[in-house]
Amino acid sequence: MLEQFFTYGYVLARLRGGALGGILDDVAAHLEKRGHTPRVGQSYLCAAGHFSHWLDLRRISPNAVGEVTIASFLEGHLPRCKCRVPHGLRCHMRAALDHVLAVLRARGLARPPQRPEQTPVDRMLESFKTYRQNACGVTDATSQGNVLHVRRFLVSLYGTGEVDLRRLEPKELIGFISEQTRKCSPETAGLVRTALRSFFSIHASRRPV
Ligand SMILES: [Zn+2]
Repeated sequence: MLEQFFTYGYVLARLRGGALGGILDDVAAHLEKRGHTPRVGQSYLCAAGHFSHWLDLRRISPNAVGEVTIASFLEGHLPRCKCRVPHGLRCHMRAALDHVLAVLRARGLARPPQRPEQTPVDRMLESFKTYRQNACGVTDATSQGNVLHVRRFLVSLYGTGEVDLRRLEPKELIGFISEQTRKCSPETAGLVRTALRSFFSIHASRRPV
């Protein structure tokens, strides 16, 4: 498929002989399917070839490629680059490397993106949601709404830090509910109160939530 964009044998050999040699034909197929002109396709593939060359220099396996690797190439290597391989246009660089990463992941060669680490509030709400669905038969949609309201309350108090409900003062809960009553429609404020009542009722009956 690279032949759609390059004809010289030494160019094809260089691209196929690098760290990403096994997937550049797939990248080329993707570019052709998207209807890129030969000129733009060549620019993308030159950028991918340059990245592949850098992976070889740094002895980075395609399995280890991810967002951090790409950022290191774009921000750390490119400004100082002295590589004597075609670079492609600067404006195509980011999109080209995103294509490369997508193909690596689609073929199971690179790890999927890591989920952001859960905060204590996330963990507590996950447990709350699971309990409501399993023990109370609450639907997923209702559960999501409840979690959203409780999240706002917990984040307003604890942010991303540890949650310690034993130190919760009644005035903090009352203050939050009063604020919601002022800011929201009566219907939404009612839903907030119901969600918080349910959360604290479950918390009181099973520790930890
Ligand atoms: Zn370089």
